[in-house]
Amino acid sequence: MAEIYLLAFCLQLAVAPVLYLVDRPLLGGLNLLCLAGYVVALVLHRRLFVATALTIKLSTFLIFVIIGIAITADSSSLIYYLLFAEVELMLADLRRRTKILVTGCLIALSFGVLRLPPLYGTDARLSTVDMLLSDLGLGLVFVMLCVVILRMLTITDRHEHRYRSDAMHDSLTRVLNRRAIFERASAYWKRGRGFAIVLVDADRFKEINDNYGHTAGDAVLRHLAGLLRDSLRGDDSVGRVGGEEFLILLPGAGKTEGVAAATRIRDRLSRHPCQLDDLVLPVTLSMGIARSREGEQLRDVIDLADRRLYAAKSAGRNQVVADGHAESAASSNAERLTLGAERAFEADDV
Ligand code: GH3
Ligand code: MG
Ligand code: MG
Repeated sequence: MAEIYLLAFCLQLAVAPVLYLVDRPLLGGLNLLCLAGYVVALVLHRRLFVATALTIKLSTFLIFVIIGIAITADSSSLIYYLLFAEVELMLADLRRRTKILVTGCLIALSFGVLRLPPLYGTDARLSTVDMLLSDLGLGLVFVMLCVVILRMLTITDRHEHRYRSDAMHDSLTRVLNRRAIFERASAYWKRGRGFAIVLVDADRFKEINDNYGHTAGDAVLRHLAGLLRDSLRGDDSVGRVGGEEFLILLPGAGKTEGVAAATRIRDRLSRHPCQLDDLVLPVTLSMGIARSREGEQLRDVIDLADRRLYAAKSAGRNQVVADGHAESAASSNAERLTLGAERAFEADDV
C-alpha cells in the first residue's frame, strides 16, 4: 500500500506543473493540497494507522477529482478515478465489512457526482432511462471489481496459510519441523518463560527399517508423532528434530510434569503399539528431560536433555532420565543437536 501511495504522489506531482501551464491555478493549488494529504497518509500508514491513512488518501483524492470534474465539466473521467480508488480500497489492509461498506459509499458518490451540473460549459444531460442504465453499468462494474478482488485475496490468503504451515511442519509426520520447534523454544527462552524439554528417540529404529522395510519405518514414525501429539496438553508442542528423534516443549513444566508427560507417552505406546496390518512392530522409546533453569543458555538445556537421552540409551534403552549429567562432556550426539539449535537461533536473530 505504501508503494501505491508513493506512486500516486509521484504521478500527481508530475501533473502539478501541467495544471499551472494550462492556466488552471485553482486545480494546481488543489493538487498541492492533495499531495500534502498523501504525505500525511503515507506517514500514518508507516505508523500502522492503516484505516486513517486510507481515509485521508481517498478523501483528498476524491475532493481533488470532484472539484476537478466540476471545473472541467468532464464527469465521465470521474469513473476511472473512482474505479482506481476502489482497487486501492480493496487492496488495503482493512476488514471485509469495511471494504464493502466503503464500496457502497463510492457507488453512491459516483451516482451523485455524475448528476452535478458543471460549473462551466454546457450541461449535456442524459435522459432518465439512459442515466439509470449508466448508473446500473457503473454499479455492476464496482460490484464485479469488489467480488473479483475479494476472491483473489481469499485465494492468496489460503495459499499463504498453506505455505506458512508447510514451512513449519515436517512433511512425513506433520508435527513441527526442527527449525520451528527450536524457534519456539528460543521464543520461550527470550520471554523468560520456564519450560521443560523432553528429547525422545526411538530405540533400535534402524532394525525396523532393516527388518520390515523403509515404508514400515515411515509408518512407525507417523504413529509415534501422532502418539506424542495426543499425549500432550494444549500449550505443549512437539517437533521432529532428526530421523527418529522428537523434541517436546512443555511450557511452565518442571521435572515432575516432564516425567509425568514421559510416563503418559510410554503408557500410551504400550496401549497403542505400532501396528502394520496384523503385525505389531516392537518399538520402545528412550527419553532425556531437562528444565530451562538448568542451563545458562538454551543450547545448554538442549545439551543436557541430549546427554540424559544418551544416558538412557547407555543404560539399556526404553527408559527416561531426568537427573544428573550436568557436567558438559559433549557427546557427538549433543554437538549435532546443538548445531541444529544454533542454526535456528541464527535464523531467529535475522
Ligand atoms: P538407537 O537405539 O541407538 O537410537 O538406534 P537406532 O537404530 O534408532 O539409531 P540409528 O541412528 O543407528 O538409526 C536411525 C535410523 O533411522 C537410521 C535411518 O535409516 C532411520 N531413519 C531416519 N530417518 C528416517 C525416515 O524418515 N524414515 C525411515 N523409515 N527411517 C528413517
Ligand atoms: Mg534411535
Ligand atoms: Mg537417533
